[in-house]
Amino acid sequence: DSRVSYIRNSVTKIADYPKPGIIFRDITSTLADVRALTYVLDIFSERYQRSGITQIAGIEARGFIFAAALADRLQTGVTLIRKPGKLPRAVHQQSYSLEYGEDTLELHRDALGATDKVLLIDDLLATGGTMQAAAKLVSQCGATISEAAFLIELSGLQGRQRIAQAGVSTYAICEYD
Ligand code: IMP
Repeated sequence: DSRVSYIRNSVTKIADYPKPGIIFRDITSTLADVRALTYVLDIFSERYQRSGITQIAGIEARGFIFAAALADRLQTGVTLIRKPGKLPRAVHQQSYSLEYGEDTLELHRDALGATDKVLLIDDLLATGGTMQAAAKLVSQCGATISEAAFLIELSGLQGRQRIAQAGVSTYAICEYD
């Protein structure tokens, strides 16, 4: 798919960010390129149209951008999975381990229910810890998960396998080692 190569080339590679030895994949250049952004939304819409998805759950913060834009294409609602202390009503919480320490995500308890079929979305899959926690939150609400979708998968980190442990399949538009 020539659109995938175009999208891949729109991502900026930043060496030694945020730490020496790390290659950061910066998608702000993809968002700023109308052709790349349209291709991203076209590819996701083609995959998920007529899939019965009722809500798209975006992970703070870059996941929100894709969740909102795709929800407009697919005519679904948007659900926010947020960092701690941002959501005002009662929440479910999931903590997950990082390289150093721990992080937590939250979801309103009443955000989703048993009749929802949810697409989880984020910009980039690395170790999968973030998405695994997000998937657990959606399951805690009793909703069904359609899939976990990403713009980018860093496939060498085996994040897809970690998400599979939560019983969820993964789709990514572009892949890097
Ligand atoms: P994981 O939990 O290890 O899969 O990390 C994924 C989370 O970290 C996502 O929310 C990403 O936005 C963020 N992240 C990790 N590495 C990068 C990167 O190279 N570029 C942009 N975001 C990244």
